Amino acid sequence: MKRENTRQIKVGNITIGNQNKVIIQSMTNTKTKDVEATVKQIHELEKAGCELIRVAILDMQDALAVSEIKKQINIPLVCDIHFNPDLAIQAIKSGADKIRLNPGNIENEEKIRQIVSLCKEHHVPIRIGINAGSLNKKYELSANAMIESAKDHLRILEAMDFHDICLSFKSSDPLECIETYKLASETFDYPLHLGVTEAGTLLDSTIKSSLALGSLLLDGIGDTIRISISDNPVEEIKVAKKLLRACKLKMDVANLISCPTCGRIQYDMLPIAKQMEKYLENVNKDISVAIMGCPVNGPLEAKRADIGVAGGKDSAVLFKKGEIVKTIPQDKIIETLISEIEKM
Ligand code: SF4
Repeated sequence: MKRENTRQIKVGNITIGNQNKVIIQSMTNTKTKDVEATVKQIHELEKAGCELIRVAILDMQDALAVSEIKKQINIPLVCDIHFNPDLAIQAIKSGADKIRLNPGNIENEEKIRQIVSLCKEHHVPIRIGINAGSLNKKYELSANAMIESAKDHLRILEAMDFHDICLSFKSSDPLECIETYKLASETFDYPLHLGVTEAGTLLDSTIKSSLALGSLLLDGIGDTIRISISDNPVEEIKVAKKLLRACKLKMDVANLISCPTCGRIQYDMLPIAKQMEKYLENVNKDISVAIMGCPVNGPLEAKRADIGVAGGKDSAVLFKKGEIVKTIPQDKIIETLISEIEKM
């Protein structure tokens, strides 16, 4: 898929923007100064497929903890700072790979100069994050106002000849997100970090984020994504991977095809679909696995799958690329599928 030709920025060892892959991001919900808990959560997120992690910096202890966290993790680290320039300065000195900071919220120009010169020296990009919920009071909320607000912050950095920038325009309303990001994509060539903010719990966020981010990604807009969910952040990664897979922007994620079942079903399919879903979370292969209720529509619907089963009476037939391989009794379906997938 052709994506927008945004500028490229380097964040640690990854490159964001232009035709580079869309990066999956999340944020820890531990106290950053609790290095052990933060590193543990980042390791869980890395294992799930997180490629860029953000931590909140609330005080000097958090900013100082960054250097120890950095030593123990394998993905680039973004430090999220509001208002306090000294925290940004310390976070960069501690080894932050990127900071999220709105320069217009810092009154002391000398401090901004110091942050920008440290960012230049350490090759640390800055994300300017415009959120509908905290838009500058001089504006009345609209997509245009969010763009104007970003320009206010950008002017400060660009006047210091700093362009290592990423932008985000988050709102809790998915349609407002789509409108604003589209306008941002027409207005700026900086890479865009996509997200619906305060999107709710797993089901709500999955729907809202898929609607907004899916629509934008299919238009070639978006360089990094975060699915914000009120839950364990590992859930964010699972949804992000499935969304990118569905958009065909990330193919090393196993795809599960399963029917909704109906009165034709003669075997116990739903536990199999659930167990396979769990198993496939950690299968980083470009494969489609079909779990179908019956052979009436099953084989044809499963034809595009690399491997699949279609239920019979207390059993299922195993298919590979639409060809029947054998019949499996109900209690052997999972182990047979797993052993075949491991060989693929
Ligand atoms: S595959 Fe069979 S059981 Fe599943 S929905 Fe279609 S007809 Fe019903």
